[in-house]
Amino acid sequence: MRFKIELGDNDIKALVYSGPRDVRVKNVTDAKIERPTDVLVRITSSNICGSDLHMYEGRTDMEEGKVLGHENLGPAVEVGEAVDRIKVGDWVCLPFNVACGFCKNCEAGLTGACLTSNPGTAGAAYGFAGMGPYSGGQAEYLRVPYADFNCLKLPDDAQEKENDYVMLADIFPTGWHATELAGVKPGESVVIYGCGPVGLMAAHAAMIKGASKVMIVDPHPDRLALAEDIGAIAVDYSKGSACIKAFSETDFTEDLKKFDVPTLVLHGDDDQIVPIGAAALHSSKLVRNATLKIYAGAPHGLAYTHNDQLNVDLLAFLKTEELSR
Ligand SMILES: [Zn+2]
Ligand SMILES: [Zn+2]
Repeated sequence: MRFKIELGDNDIKALVYSGPRDVRVKNVTDAKIERPTDVLVRITSSNICGSDLHMYEGRTDMEEGKVLGHENLGPAVEVGEAVDRIKVGDWVCLPFNVACGFCKNCEAGLTGACLTSNPGTAGAAYGFAGMGPYSGGQAEYLRVPYADFNCLKLPDDAQEKENDYVMLADIFPTGWHATELAGVKPGESVVIYGCGPVGLMAAHAAMIKGASKVMIVDPHPDRLALAEDIGAIAVDYSKGSACIKAFSETDFTEDLKKFDVPTLVLHGDDDQIVPIGAAALHSSKLVRNATLKIYAGAPHGLAYTHNDQLNVDLLAFLKTEELSR
């Protein structure tokens, strides 16, 4: 059974992209079951993502009228006839990618490049430019395609802990994935550039993986305070070279001698990203020799930081005699 605010004929409220830097809560056509493999979810939590800024700031070809929101959670309120695993009343969290679960890429675990959900290209997502026709969840209701595959069914405490569980839609796996790609191992030292939500989640993930020392670099004192709250070492780069400071916290030189250098995890901040010249990094001997592991910008695997000075420092650091031996 569905409960909703009466707005008129089949309308729900949703956050609609209306042009660059112009989003509005509007009445839109209600979400509905379109295929037997769909479920409808009453959205109770939907995060605003840094990736929403790509659309909000007009950097994409997002069509006006599209509903934003790809980090969604709530109870299932209607279930398509072919859905087996999800029942009405189940609380679910939805990964931001829409994936079929049965194409070649999905079967290989590459659900972000699903070949079925967005025909003609690879990869689909809710409320996202170029990622298929799917409406976002910053709305009262959301249609979830291929629901048996896409719904993460939550335990009994879902409602009580929804602010935690909604992190599973994107932000926590993104931080976790950064540490996966960087190959963080127990006992290693980790430096994370950027202390926004993804940076914090990467720090948390590195700690779960047993990193001995987790440093996190940012100029914002409020963010750094959060980092310290979760047990990371805060490095304020507005007070000097963050690279040198961060590395001075490690036994970098000693580690290097053993070919066991710290893992470096980078994450940019959407409003400040400056491509680092990944080529410069890749051409450094360290990276070629894979003794320094660099990761940033979760889905793309490119290395960048969000600050010119930091890039200069980082490149200078990587090019020092000592490191390029
Ligand atoms: Zn997101
Ligand atoms: Zn697929």
